[in-house]
Amino acid sequence: MRRIVACAAALALGACATNEGKKPGSVERMYVISCGENHVKDLSRWTPGVNVGKSYEFGNYCYLVRHAQGWMLWDTGNADRLAAMPNGFSTAGGMITAYMKKPLVDSLKEIGVAPADIQHFAMSHSHGDHSGNANLFAGSTLYIQSAEYRAVFGPEPQKYGVIPANFEKLRSAPAMIIDGDYDVFGDGSVLIKSAPGHTPGHQVLVVRLPSRGPVMLSGDMVHLRYSWDNRVVPSFNFNVEQSGRTIDAMKAYAKATGAELWVNHDMEQHKSIPKAPAFVQ
Ligand SMILES: [Zn+2]
Repeated sequence: MRRIVACAAALALGACATNEGKKPGSVERMYVISCGENHVKDLSRWTPGVNVGKSYEFGNYCYLVRHAQGWMLWDTGNADRLAAMPNGFSTAGGMITAYMKKPLVDSLKEIGVAPADIQHFAMSHSHGDHSGNANLFAGSTLYIQSAEYRAVFGPEPQKYGVIPANFEKLRSAPAMIIDGDYDVFGDGSVLIKSAPGHTPGHQVLVVRLPSRGPVMLSGDMVHLRYSWDNRVVPSFNFNVEQSGRTIDAMKAYAKATGAELWVNHDMEQHKSIPKAPAFVQ
């Protein structure tokens, strides 16, 4: 993978020139795109101690941000190839069945956007339900935490639950490898925040919508609104203690900034959020 520049250190010195001089609040709108569903047989795997034996249908969403300077995509959902499997694709020993009823490329086309139009691209983390279509965006700049980069492109990706084929075309793609938070457009309107625990380099995205205000896109920091409210962390997370500390830190950030949390996989919460081709502002 080619590094463009490690900007985090340069920013501290005021020397990272890529994003200077932009006016604040230049996000124009955001599209919330259905990127599959994941049906599970026992929700308690995600909510230890409760929901034992209860089935659940996790939603799965991708987020396309229109900024004055261009497009940014957050997460890529289940793989488009699953659209050819009407009965879904069974994983985790039959515990999860993954569906992709409408390919991401088709949803983007409806909005009038092709993968090649998207200049900025990041995933909350590298698991299959977020990286399913990552290879489509090999022409975009990928923003990834260095810990996640090492997990994906290191010697043992499977150890971190990574499907190496999902990243085949990204090895030589442009990437911004970051450590910590990163202001994508340099105007505070789209902020990647380090939120480790679920995976080594998990991150969340804060988008300052022009009317609605700041929205934090959870990735898998939590899987349900319940998990956020009750600080519930699955035991299969990469680091359970770190996951709890991340929830605490993001709650403090949300309180300080007035950001609302949108939980990617929470089907209940998503009922109230407009979906593409409609958009939110
Ligand atoms: Zn997920």
